[in-house]
This record gives sequence, C-alpha cells and structure tokens, in this order.
Amino acid sequence: MNPLEESDLPLERKLADALARISVAMRAGNWDWFGKEGLSPTQGQILLLLKSRQAPMRLSEVASELAVTPATVSDSVATLAEKELIQKEKAFDDGRALALKLASKGKKLLSLYEKEQTVIQLVVSRLPKPDQIALYRSLLRIIRELQVTGKIPIARMCVTCRYFRPNVHKNSEQPHHCALVNAPLGDRTLRNDCPEHDAADEHLAEQNWRAFISS
Ligand code: SF4
Repeated sequence: MNPLEESDLPLERKLADALARISVAMRAGNWDWFGKEGLSPTQGQILLLLKSRQAPMRLSEVASELAVTPATVSDSVATLAEKELIQKEKAFDDGRALALKLASKGKKLLSLYEKEQTVIQLVVSRLPKPDQIALYRSLLRIIRELQVTGKIPIARMCVTCRYFRPNVHKNSEQPHHCALVNAPLGDRTLRNDCPEHDAADEHLAEQNWRAFISS
C-alpha cells in the first residue's frame, strides 16, 4: 500500500480543517478592519446583520442568528450604542421589548467596509469562474445541511424559499427561476441572504432541494 495513503487523513477531515483555516483568516480580517474602529469581530457582525435585515431586530434574534449567547450580544450592543453606531427602540409588537437598528453613523461605517474587498474575496476572485460557481454550490449545500440539522439558523437562501423553482429552464447559465420577480436565476446569482425570502414549507423545500442537486 502507498505509505502516503496509509497515513493520510480522511478527505472530509482535511476539508473540515481547510474550512477552519479559512474561518481563521476571515476572523483575522474582521479583527483588522473593525479593530481599527475599536470594535470586536462580534460587534462588526452585529452591524452587518442589522444592515442585511434592513429592519429592527430583537437582541434574542441577533444572538440566535450569530449563534452566540444573549449575554455576549448584550455586551456588544452596549458598546455599539455608546459609540452611536446603533439605536435601541421599542419593538413594534411589544412595547416592553427593545429592538436594535443601525444608526446613521453605523450605516456610514458599513458603507466604508463594503467598499473594500475582504482578503477572502480577493483570493476567491483569482479562481476561475466555473470553480467559483462550483464552490458556491458546495457551500450552499453545507449551509443547508447545517440548517436542516439545526446547527445554524435558517438563512434567507433561494434554495429554501417558496418562490424558488430549480432547473425549470433549458438555459444552462440560468436554469432556475424566481417566481416572485418572475426572472431566471443562475447558480452564480442564487442569493444567500435575500430580503424577499419567504421560507418554503418542509415538503416544498425538500422537493426543491432534490431538484436543485440533481443538476
Ligand atoms: S425571493 Fe429572493 S430568495 Fe426567493 S427565490 Fe427570489 S431571489 Fe431567491
């Protein structure tokens, strides 16, 4: 037997290690960028989450989305509010509860953040386009599996949306369809945080998923 194969780790273990290394680079990148503003990566993630949701969020929702404890979010929120990057207001459906939203200073900070390419964007942009699309599909599969097994909250991805129609067009560049805007979708244009997302019921989600991965 080839001694290299004998001592080799299983492929899934090497993939998990590779993803862990990439997450270290992403976290370090966020440390650098938000650190310059005197913020932690968690505080940066809270700002990015509030921006993507475009609506006030309860503290408990933020904690659940970021898979951290409410206590961690609470400390971060206090700092962000002190720096006037976010505002706290009464939740529209419960006057005793608080909801968080971006303040104009927070919006300005994020527009600077979004103008710069992250280190991962830069590295990924050097991959050939077909490899980028294949990687995106594989990552969507991993994210969905994590959602189905309850490891992360439901992300607002096309593949879990009731408006998603997978593989309904003959066009190999744009085989899918969004029934909400009545427009074709390609793998590269699938969304992973769509504000119009409306979760499909379990049956439709499973049916769509099978159709999506069959291509
Ligand atoms: S509404 Fe958004 S998430 Fe749903 S299929 Fe259309 S683009 Fe995708």
